[in-house]
Amino acid sequence: MSVDKLDRMELDEAGTNPQAIAKAIHRQLGIRSGSVPVHEIAAALDIIEIRAEPLTSFEGALLTTPERGCGSILVNKQSGHRRQRFTVAHELGHFLNPWHRPTSDHGFECSRQDMHINNVNDSDTHRRQEAEANAFAIELLAPLTLTVSYLLGPPDLQNVWSMFQNLKISKAAAARRYVSLHDQCLALVFSHQNKFMFADRNPEFPWIDLTEGQSLPNLPAASDDTAISDIEEGDHQDWFSNPYPGELLVQTLYQQDDYAITLLQLSGETDDDKADTREDSFDRLMRYSSGSRD
Ligand SMILES: [Zn+2]
Repeated sequence: MSVDKLDRMELDEAGTNPQAIAKAIHRQLGIRSGSVPVHEIAAALDIIEIRAEPLTSFEGALLTTPERGCGSILVNKQSGHRRQRFTVAHELGHFLNPWHRPTSDHGFECSRQDMHINNVNDSDTHRRQEAEANAFAIELLAPLTLTVSYLLGPPDLQNVWSMFQNLKISKAAAARRYVSLHDQCLALVFSHQNKFMFADRNPEFPWIDLTEGQSLPNLPAASDDTAISDIEEGDHQDWFSNPYPGELLVQTLYQQDDYAITLLQLSGETDDDKADTREDSFDRLMRYSSGSRD
């Protein structure tokens, strides 16, 4: 089915769950390769205009009515192409979720900080609906059908780089999506000028004993011809207050202006165990892909 034939009525059956709404869109589209045409999808779902303007007080906005008959999206012209795509998807997430309540007289205004909130169980209504719009956005831009090929094999930031290039999402969004879907025990550390900013962990990954602004241990250096380091063995004491069983592997992706994303991997399993886990995980991922509507 082509993008302009999307049936909005059919999405209503997905209810208020952000991932379910995004999956319902992909069930209609059936995209198997390339990046997700988010502007065309928005246009097919009653977004009558997407305008890029030099915004200062927010990153994106949705102008609409409480009934959501139609809407217009504003994105920050000063942001890069990939961030603008995420903003369009985020605002579409507000537009299609009947539970979401407007945050201004005209609709929704979303800050750059709002685009990073990820706790969909937050008790604060505003933070929760921002987290849900983000959950919708990443599910729309990086559905499992387009990411599963990057998840097979040992964890490696080269796969995150490929997701960034092929799916046209930011490196940070690609890394977070990669770690959240991968079956291995992984965490991401985001840093600036070699100082800790925040971490994203799989539920089974232990607490990382660093605070904001603290200097990171020596990170593996970038290889000569890419911005990505080799995968090197790390020292548990650099990252945890207590040692954990298994080997700690560290790999860093260097970005502009001294920003960096470091992938931490804990592995304490035998090779046989790993093979079993990966097979189970692949089944789980495929179930997730074709998953239930709730
Ligand atoms: Zn928002």
